[in-house]
Amino acid sequence: MNKLDTSLVANALRQAGFETTEKVTDADVVLINTCSVRQHAEQRVLSHLGHLKHIKKSRPELIVGVIGCMAQRLGGELLKHEVVDIVAGPAQIPQIPKLVAEAASHEMKLLAVSEQIRTAGRDSEIDALDGFERDYGSGDNNIKSQAFVRVMRGCNNFCTYCVVPYVRGPEISRAPGAIIEQMKKLAQKGIKQITLLGQSIDSYRYTSGNETYRLAELLRMGAEVDGIRWIRFITSHPRRFDEAILQVMAETPKVCPYLHIPAQSGSDEILKAMNRGYTAGEYIELIEKARAIVPDIAIAGDFIVGFPGETEDNFAETVRLVKKVQYKNIFVFKYSPRPGTKAEEKLADTVPLEVKKQRNTELLEIQNEIAERYNKRFLNKKVEVLVEGPSKKPHLNSAEADNQPQLIGRTATDYIVVFNGSEKLAGQFTKVKITKTSPLTLFGQLT
Ligand code: SAH
Ligand code: SF4
Repeated sequence: MNKLDTSLVANALRQAGFETTEKVTDADVVLINTCSVRQHAEQRVLSHLGHLKHIKKSRPELIVGVIGCMAQRLGGELLKHEVVDIVAGPAQIPQIPKLVAEAASHEMKLLAVSEQIRTAGRDSEIDALDGFERDYGSGDNNIKSQAFVRVMRGCNNFCTYCVVPYVRGPEISRAPGAIIEQMKKLAQKGIKQITLLGQSIDSYRYTSGNETYRLAELLRMGAEVDGIRWIRFITSHPRRFDEAILQVMAETPKVCPYLHIPAQSGSDEILKAMNRGYTAGEYIELIEKARAIVPDIAIAGDFIVGFPGETEDNFAETVRLVKKVQYKNIFVFKYSPRPGTKAEEKLADTVPLEVKKQRNTELLEIQNEIAERYNKRFLNKKVEVLVEGPSKKPHLNSAEADNQPQLIGRTATDYIVVFNGSEKLAGQFTKVKITKTSPLTLFGQLT
């Protein structure tokens, strides 16, 4: 979501005559798009602001804006920070070019956040957001031929640990016509892969007259857009997962066999305290069904360790679930109490940081062993990848280095593949023979 918002704002500012700079010291305007999901993310923003204080001392005309979820959460309090000129929430991003111009000409501090983000009467705000997305949603600025398309805003799930419903507002599904129109426009511009976005995307629902469109229909409609080769969607919620989605995945080659479906915990007690609305058993049943309908499906998930009251036994249940599911990859987070959430208000943060760290490391080690074993089945196989571009990190590659850069690509199932090849391949589909595997990356040679 934040990557998409950042690219929308960057495109809008470019249209208004701005350019992006490599170095922060060259910039006239610095905008920080923020995340509130964990305290650590917010702390990093505060330390960036501390750094900007030094730059602003020598260049007082520098304009600093904090945008996104942290802006919505803290509002006026953030505006009090001595370097901050603009505070704009996720629903106010369409106003940013105007806010920047005003801050520059009037030398004043500006606050633009939603007063009552979860109440009705935000129609004009939502219309502005849809228009902004239509006008500036031209694809990822960094990855050729890929784009994000939002299909839903906000969230109504209220997982007890999570700040998202309070900063992104209620769940609103976008009209399928507008989504398909946007996909067509992107395809005409050379976009080949689209990732549909929603906080619990499987609950997408749009009613028009007698027709109700769910994610399954939307995927079918999207697959008919000429030029689009791969469609992904993130993130799914296990609570009311619609199995029709799996059918579409099985029947439609363009819909990638990939499901990001966080379990968060393997303990029924903890899942209940998190208000996730399913048991570990129901989750495993769903995964088994997914594998029966889409045999080559790759499953990814998120876990929170150290949720209030999580005992060694509760954690052992999470370990059991991870072993049972055989994920492609997992993201593990240490529980972070978020102000205003039910968990923060009602439950004490009982698990010591050291224990959270230990559990985090242990879960990742277990997953690494699983993936290490599982990924070996790719050896000597050919996989199709969509090439992203040169690999940013130097990877160990057993492929012969033939004076070509190391490229990174992804399979339909979201495996990262590293191989040597011409940079001209960025944005194209190609086949790679796998010669070496690791828990998170496959290595190979162009075929
Ligand atoms: N809507 C998505 C995820 C949103 S946040 C979903 O429900 O899957 C991404 C991940 O951050 C969550 O899946 C969860 O694992 C983690 N997360 C959210 N709030 C957190 C908190 N307070 N502490 C630690 N991790 C958290
Ligand atoms: Fe947060 Fe739960 Fe909504 Fe995901 S589904 S954004 S974790 S409240």
